[in-house]
Amino acid sequence: MAELMSINYQSVLDRVFEQAKNTEMLGEVASYIPELAHVDPQKLGIHLITTNNEHFHAGDAGEKFSIQSISKVLSLTLAFKALGDRLWQRVGIEPSGTAFNSLVQLEYEQGIPRNPFLNAGAIVICDVLVSQFDNPKDEILRLCCELSGNPEVSINETVAKSELDSSFRNCSLANFMKSFGNIENDIATVLDVYFYLCAIEMTCKEMAQTFMFLAENGVNPLSKKTVVTSSEAKRLNAILQLCGFYDEAGEFSFKVGLPGKSGVGGGIIAIHPQKYSVAVWSPKLNKKGNSYLGMKMLESLTTISQSSIF
Ligand code: GLN
Repeated sequence: MAELMSINYQSVLDRVFEQAKNTEMLGEVASYIPELAHVDPQKLGIHLITTNNEHFHAGDAGEKFSIQSISKVLSLTLAFKALGDRLWQRVGIEPSGTAFNSLVQLEYEQGIPRNPFLNAGAIVICDVLVSQFDNPKDEILRLCCELSGNPEVSINETVAKSELDSSFRNCSLANFMKSFGNIENDIATVLDVYFYLCAIEMTCKEMAQTFMFLAENGVNPLSKKTVVTSSEAKRLNAILQLCGFYDEAGEFSFKVGLPGKSGVGGGIIAIHPQKYSVAVWSPKLNKKGNSYLGMKMLESLTTISQSSIF
């Protein structure tokens, strides 16, 4: 029935925000990357953009934070455009059922990560970008600026350095994959791109805008340029749906019912193809490394508005 009526998204967001503010905030801020632990755990924001270019927001939606693994959607977009279906020889498209930084599957799957959103998969994607582009960092940042509509999107160098200083697992993953021949370039060069990617900062508003192309069949609504074909957009959304939350992808599908991607900075992006893109931020993470209140806000959003893809 909600489909037939136009949804008052501002009143939905106000309710979602109020509910979240009154929910006990469980979980912990990520601290395995020391610089991320400095964030104010009380931050709470949501920003939604419809395909009619209407904007709605509540809370700290205009404040920058570390988008972390959410940017893996952008690196995947660049690599998929560059290699097409050849990319899937290097990285899979299946959910892993393992944590984002897990090593276990890599050995028995011969160094081919299950999907591009696991750290291992995202490191392979960075390796592809190093092979494809003279300056992969510039390509990544250019795409962020173009899609977000803000030419000044930047990375936080202190976070990137903190990632490097605490990169024991990511180094292990990269070295292990290199031993199977699935990393072509120098490991330090590949990880440098990976840490850069993770250290991008955006507001909820910029994040919602950046991922609008996935709600618009691959077209950037600001420039009207095709970012990816509609078939590629469908495939990217499918990977978000199945792999965006690691070993909690089922839970997110079950509770929220949208393609989505989380980051350990406490952000989440979710897409309703042909309807909207929505970004949320709350830094405290559950045990699976996904924003505790962020997931709750998206669950209430799709419940109150009756607008999931299922
Ligand atoms: N930079 C983080 C890491 O490499 C990204 C993880 C995430 O956001 N899930 O561990």
